[in-house]
Amino acid sequence: MSAPEFADIVIIGSGIGGATIAASLADTGANILILEAGAHLPERAENRDQRAIFQRGFFRPKEFWYEAGGEPFNPGNYYNVGGNSKFYGAVLARYRRQDFEEIAHAEGVSPAWPFSYDELEPWYGKAEQLYQVRGALGQDPTEPAHSSPFPYPPVPDEPPIADVRARLKAKGIHPYSLPLGIDIDKWLTKGQTPWDAHPHVNDGKMDAETAALAAALKFPNVNLEINARVTRLETAADGTISAVHYLQAGAEKTLHAKTVILSAGAVQSAALLLRSANDQFPKGLANSSDQVGRNFMNHNSSAVLALSPTYINDSIYQKTFGFNDFYLSDGAGGPPLGNVQLLGRVSGKILKSSLPLLPEWLLNVVSRHAIDFYAMSEDIPHSESRISVDGERIVLQWHRTNWNAHLALVAKLKAVLREIGFPVVLSRAFDRRTPSHQCGTIRMGNDPDKAPLDTFCRAYDHANLYVVDASFLPTSAAVNPSLTIAAQALRVGAHLQAQR
Ligand SMILES: Cc1cc2nc3c(=O)[nH]c(=O)nc-3n(C[C@H](O)[C@H](O)[C@H](O)COP(=O)(O)OP(=O)(O)OC[C@H]3O[C@@H](n4cnc5c(N)ncnc54)[C@H](O)[C@@H]3O)c2cc1C
Repeated sequence: MSAPEFADIVIIGSGIGGATIAASLADTGANILILEAGAHLPERAENRDQRAIFQRGFFRPKEFWYEAGGEPFNPGNYYNVGGNSKFYGAVLARYRRQDFEEIAHAEGVSPAWPFSYDELEPWYGKAEQLYQVRGALGQDPTEPAHSSPFPYPPVPDEPPIADVRARLKAKGIHPYSLPLGIDIDKWLTKGQTPWDAHPHVNDGKMDAETAALAAALKFPNVNLEINARVTRLETAADGTISAVHYLQAGAEKTLHAKTVILSAGAVQSAALLLRSANDQFPKGLANSSDQVGRNFMNHNSSAVLALSPTYINDSIYQKTFGFNDFYLSDGAGGPPLGNVQLLGRVSGKILKSSLPLLPEWLLNVVSRHAIDFYAMSEDIPHSESRISVDGERIVLQWHRTNWNAHLALVAKLKAVLREIGFPVVLSRAFDRRTPSHQCGTIRMGNDPDKAPLDTFCRAYDHANLYVVDASFLPTSAAVNPSLTIAAQALRVGAHLQAQR
């Protein structure tokens, strides 16, 4: 075992949560150390090779989580500098104002946040600046008020996409330009592919590494240790976190820090707190509320592929608009259904990963006449939807909620697409192997009996422990999570600065 190290602030994980709070604390002069389990994604041919990415699972970690009954499955959860954002679709959306309030859904109630949209609004604006979001206001009736404009104009629709946007508008739908963290010219210079679910090195995607971590590492007081996997947190008699134990290149190391910020992602952060149970905290750290690991949410989502023999889709990236016409209600006064947005352009090579028996040439023909959407509905927090640990194993018991609302959203989307000239519309739901929007497992709240974290993400049980990643989200809304994680990370960072 090597000698202990010291830092003012240790941040565990360099995903959206960890990298963004590092950026916000960098100019304090504090000695900040980021411990990241993975390494930097290197430049390599596979980065733009869709057979490698989708058919061979080249980038998929060789990891298994377990269902409650013991069945293993291989989750698409990524461990590298920048975390899951290296693969993300870079849709950087705000929750709607109503998402901060209690919402009655078809199958339950989504609880109110401990603060309102107005509290997070300025931080959303700062996060949009940091992640250089491209977008447009005034197109989506559900878009909440912005006190600052998007820093850049929206990514343009390619002609076949503009055609479908116009067809939707003609039917009374309100398509809006997706808020995107992508420099499309730079991205296309490296290769003619979409960016969604494709790994990113430094080709124009604004991810946790290129947007936030790069800003933090400009400061000499901020350092990053890669291949450093934290295994356990230790507590002192007063309940503070006294030591961070991690493994690096086979060596066990220990670090002491005044402030510990846990940002390992909603599943790994919960697992680490549970695994760190000790005599004083037998249920795991930060867990006197018994909520650590519970309320796991992951969105109900489906890919929806619309086909027409007369429609030719020669777009490359496709992912430029969405619509929220069924977000706040089903359009007929009923409960909310969710968001619809374009997926990254699906090619024959990508389709073959789901339809291995069909030849790629046939799937290329299908793809040439198709446009693909992502339908996303809220997953409501449920105490039996949970992460637990069984020794080194992670057990995921995902109790999906609100599934019928999602089926209704997919049915509505299919009907709309048929109306605008796509006679064949197919759908496929994503399951637990795609935990991309995992959240909620260490939620924040005003009541220490019901939530492990206060509204600045500090653990009620440990004065120097903060959890800043998708875990803190009290609800999933039906919106991509990253911008909300980043906005709250900036808010927590400013709070810590004020306290120093
Ligand atoms: C294919 C795909 C597409 C997506 N598209 C979008 C999108 O368009 N818009 C959007 O908003 N969201 C999208 N998401 C989701 C988004 O990427 C995540 O919500 C977000 O990145 C979560 O950030 P995080 O900080 O919570 O955790 P993570 O990204 O999981 O980061 C956690 C970090 O901690 C590290 N770590 C884990 N355990 C340890 C440990 N024990 N010790 C040290 N380090 C550790 C990990 O290696 C990782 O770097 C997508 C995700 C995927 C996979």
